[in-house]
Amino acid sequence: MENSNQKWALVTGASRGIGRAVSYRLAQSGYNLLLNYNSNDTEAGKALREILGLGVKASLLKFDVSSLEQTEKILGDWFKNNPGEQIEVLVNNAGIKKDNLLMWMTENEWNSVMDIAAGGFFNVTRTLIKHMLVKKYGRIVNVVSLSGIKGLPGQTNYSASKAAVIGATKALAQEVGRRGITVNAVAPGFILTDMTEGINEKDYKALIPVGRFGTTKEVADVVAFFASPECSYVTGQVISVNGGLYT
Ligand code: NAP
Repeated sequence: MENSNQKWALVTGASRGIGRAVSYRLAQSGYNLLLNYNSNDTEAGKALREILGLGVKASLLKFDVSSLEQTEKILGDWFKNNPGEQIEVLVNNAGIKKDNLLMWMTENEWNSVMDIAAGGFFNVTRTLIKHMLVKKYGRIVNVVSLSGIKGLPGQTNYSASKAAVIGATKALAQEVGRRGITVNAVAPGFILTDMTEGINEKDYKALIPVGRFGTTKEVADVVAFFASPECSYVTGQVISVNGGLYT
């Protein structure tokens, strides 16, 4: 067990896909887990049971990360009800895609993608960082994307939102480095989740040096390093987990 103090980790978008695998991996490292999600109660319940099965504490925190009001209320209540407890790891993972060519893109397609990825990063991180600064310890890991590094056609909204979070990762790392807080990002390529369900692996795998899509566990293992106490001298970095796709 990497963390004998039984501190808490909060993972946004933890009901499915990458966030769920990250939560499981952090629980395997001994963290208690706060699992955020937006609407899918069934999958969130399954994620919670999987993690409780590992013998750590875990709770569901249902809120929309794009709402600062909801974020502050739910997290504020949690701190009130759990005095003395510390959230030392934050994984900003919640995200959606609403692909369209820019010329056809609606205001809602632009805003909703930006509000969840970039807005969600701001809302959750600003709420928690005050606690981390007081404790002089924190690990913040942002799940971004190949799309935010390279830019992908049909994803100007998604690419922009992830590029925004990459910039924020590098800036925040410099703000809080002296206070024992590291801020890093993981940029997945094509990972097998609900988000990539409509994408045919056969059409893309020739482009990927490793020759296949990645698994959620392969992303989670990299997040786990950034989230660990051992990640004390690595900050402001973006690691691609994309099977060698050139970015
Ligand atoms: P996914 O399977 O579609 O899961 C998305 C998760 O985000 C769900 O838990 C969902 O909750 C949650 N969520 C969505 N909107 C939310 C909101 N407003 N507030 C709180 N939670 C919200 O997606 P995924 O593939 O695991 O992707 C996870 C992250 O990795 C995203 O940031 C995505 O952009 C990034 N990523 C994925 C890939 C890939 O190939 N899959 C590649 C690069 C980057 P509900 O279950 O309640 O809807």
